[in-house]
Amino acid sequence: MIGAGPAGLMAAIKAAEEGASVVVFESMPKPARKLGISGKGRGNITNTAGYSDFLAHFNNHGRFLKTAFKAFFNQDLLDFFAEEGLKTTVERGGRVFTASGKAPEIVSKLVAAARKRNVTIMTDTAISDLVIEQKQCKGVKTRTGRTFDADAVIIATGGKSYPLTGSTGDGYKFAQNIGHKVVPPLPSLVALKPERPFPISLNGLQLRNIEARLIIDGRKVQSEFGELAFLDNNLAGPVIITLSRTAVPEIVKKKQVIVSLDLKPALDHEKLDKRLLRDLNKLKNRPCSELIAGLLPTSMIDFCLESCEIDAKLNCSQLEARLRKRLRNWLKELNFEISEPGPWSQAIVTAGGIDTREINPVTMQSKLVSNLFFAGEIIDIDADTGGFNLQAAFSTGWLAGFNAARDQQK
Ligand SMILES: Cc1cc2nc3c(=O)[nH]c(=O)nc-3n(C[C@H](O)[C@H](O)[C@H](O)COP(=O)(O)OP(=O)(O)OC[C@H]3O[C@@H](n4cnc5c(N)ncnc54)[C@H](O)[C@@H]3O)c2cc1C
Repeated sequence: MIGAGPAGLMAAIKAAEEGASVVVFESMPKPARKLGISGKGRGNITNTAGYSDFLAHFNNHGRFLKTAFKAFFNQDLLDFFAEEGLKTTVERGGRVFTASGKAPEIVSKLVAAARKRNVTIMTDTAISDLVIEQKQCKGVKTRTGRTFDADAVIIATGGKSYPLTGSTGDGYKFAQNIGHKVVPPLPSLVALKPERPFPISLNGLQLRNIEARLIIDGRKVQSEFGELAFLDNNLAGPVIITLSRTAVPEIVKKKQVIVSLDLKPALDHEKLDKRLLRDLNKLKNRPCSELIAGLLPTSMIDFCLESCEIDAKLNCSQLEARLRKRLRNWLKELNFEISEPGPWSQAIVTAGGIDTREINPVTMQSKLVSNLFFAGEIIDIDADTGGFNLQAAFSTGWLAGFNAARDQQK
C-alpha cells in the first residue's frame, strides 16, 4: 500500500481483514495528515444523502463509483467507525462530523483499527517507483533505494492539493511510467483570483447572505447563496469554493469567467430603489457615505463610493437619479473577472487524476498492469463539499483492499 491517507488506511484494513499481510508506506512522519485537518478540523467524514443523490455530487464521475458505493457506503462507514468507538453527529445538509469536533480522532481510530489487524505502517518511507515485470506489479522501490516485494500494490497517494500534508502528486508519476493516462490535475474547491486586485481594505472581510453568480462567456451557469470572504487577493468562502468546481476548468480553457455578486439578494431592483429613496430622504444633508454605511460593512464604503464614482463629500440630497441607479446596479451586480484559480496550497481537492477508463470500477484494478490497484483522490473523481470526497476515498479504498487481498491469495 502506498499512502496512509483515508483511502490507503481503509484499503489496508479491508485487505488485512480478508487475510492479507499488509504493509503501508507513508512518506510523512505521521499518517493521514490531510484527514486530520479535514472539515475545518472537525472531520466531515461522509454525508447521509441517498445513493443517487450522493452519486450526483460527483457529476459525470458518479458512474465509476457505483460499485464502490454499493460495496461500502455511508452507513457501512458509520457502522465501521461506531465499532471503532468514534461518535459522530449529523449536521446541516446531511454532513456527518465527529461528535467531538476533532478530526484527528478519525485518524487515531483508523490507525488503531489497522494496527488491530496487524497492518504495518512504515512512516517516513517515501516510495519512488513501482517494480514492474512483464506487465505485473511485483513491488515498490523506496526513495532510499530499498525494494519491497508484493503480490499486490495499491496506489493511494492522493492528489496534489495541500502538498504540505504529503499529497504531492507522486502517484501520477508512478502511473504515467507504466502508461496510465492522467487527466491533467486542477485545483478544485478553491479560492478564485480576480484579474484586478480588490482594495487592501477588503482583505479579511466576510460577507453573509449574498448571492454569487458564475458567468462564463456572458452566460450565467450557476449561482450560490451564502457566505463569501475576501482573502489574500482571492475571493474565498463557501459560495466561491462551490462555484470553483465549475469555474476552474473554464478558466483553464481561457473562457471569460466572471463572479457577479448580488449584495442585496433579498431586494429586487424595484425594492432596492425604494429602500435607497427612503434612506436618502431620511439622511438628506448627511454625506452619502452614511447611506452606504447603512447598506454595507464599513470596510466596503470607500470601495463602493469609488467604484460608483460618487464623491464622498456629496450629500444625500445631492445624489442624482443616475448615480442612485449606478449604486443600485453595483449592489446587485458587483463583478469580478477571474484570472486564475487560487493556489494548490489552499485547494481542498484535486480534479483530474488517473483516467477512470483505465481502472476496472468493480475491482479498482489497473486495466494495464495486473496486481496493481488505485484508491482515493489519485483517481479522476472529485465531488462537492459535504463529506462526499472522504466517502469516495473510504469506499474506493475498501474495494481496492478487498480485491487486492483476493489477488494476494491466488
Ligand atoms: C483542508 C482540507 C479539508 C478537507 N475537508 C474535507 C471534509 O471535511 N470532507 C471531505 O469529504 N473531504 C475533505 N477534504 C478532502 C479529503 O481530505 C481528501 O479527498 C482525502 O483526504 C483524499 O484521501 P486519499 O487517501 O485519497 O489521499 P490523501 O489524504 O491525500 O492521502 C495520501 C497519502 O499518501 C501519502 N503519499 C504521497 N506520496 C507518497 C509516496 N511517494 N510515498 C509514500 N506515501 C505517499 C501522503 O503523505 C498522504 O498521507 C479536505 C481536504 C483538505 C485539504
